[in-house]
Amino acid sequence: MAARLLDGKIMAAELEENLKVRVDALKEKGYTPGLTVILVGEDPASQTYVNNKGKACDRLGIASTTIRMPADTTQEVLEAAIEEANADPAVNGILVQLPLPKHLDGDRALSLILPQKDVDGFHDINAGRLSRGLDCVVACTPKGALYMLKSAGIDISGKEAVIVGRSNIVGKPMALLLLQENATVTVCHSRTADLKAHTKRADILVAAIGVPKFITADMVKDGAVVVDVGINRVDGKLCGDVDFEEVAKKASYITPVPGGVGKMTIAMLMDNTVAAAEKAAK
Ligand code: NDP
Repeated sequence: MAARLLDGKIMAAELEENLKVRVDALKEKGYTPGLTVILVGEDPASQTYVNNKGKACDRLGIASTTIRMPADTTQEVLEAAIEEANADPAVNGILVQLPLPKHLDGDRALSLILPQKDVDGFHDINAGRLSRGLDCVVACTPKGALYMLKSAGIDISGKEAVIVGRSNIVGKPMALLLLQENATVTVCHSRTADLKAHTKRADILVAAIGVPKFITADMVKDGAVVVDVGINRVDGKLCGDVDFEEVAKKASYITPVPGGVGKMTIAMLMDNTVAAAEKAAK
């Protein structure tokens, strides 16, 4: 079986068309959505992500500001920048680009962002509300991955969903979203015994590990839907956590890297920012 591609480029472009209509409607009422991104240090991957977020804002007409801070920025200076953006009515979304340098307390910084401006969905209140199935800002990557499944009309209810990775920003919220969709969810991690026994059962397999091509064809059930969240750079080229070439021969659907979940992450950040602006404008 050759898998059908879940194409993040196409889906993100469609989503952007819709977002542009929403941004234009806000602008007609005299309201321009605003996103502030705080970038500490010079991590090359983070710089690329921040640039891509800025470009997406430009395409949609969202006012974006990037606050660049040196790697030796103190916690106080970082927190002051967050407080300033919290207090600014022109800012609807605040994003602190992760990872932060090791001397900074990221959890503390994220918890200072007003929950309604937390467009990454990482604030304790948003994470807690998601776990309770309440209305909240949902983390962009899992939200984007779920959107891809739903747009392709993939059945989730009653399916075996296996997620490899339990991070707060991908694995855990992905598990909660799939649970809300009535999948039977298993979350695996580095201490999972016999990982393959779990992944082989998956109707929907989500890889969020951070190890290039970790998921090999022998770990995947015939006809599975495979969502590759991983973004790794090997010899200057991007690749995912899934051995795409081999797994695509077995899966029914698969996301590519690049051009898969990463594109949707940015589209969902835009969606969260526009939604925050719509709420603020009311
Ligand atoms: P983390 O490093 O925070 O989490 C990785 C998870 O994988 C952990 O739960 C870890 O287990 C698990 N893991 C590591 N090694 C193994 C193993 N050998 N067997 C089973 N589980 C293992 O990463 P993130 O969740 O932040 O990111 C995961 C990947 O997704 C990365 O490649 C990252 O770049 C990418 N990413 C992509 C995004 C996008 O927009 N597409 C956005 C965010 C991330 P344990 O908890 O036990 O350590």
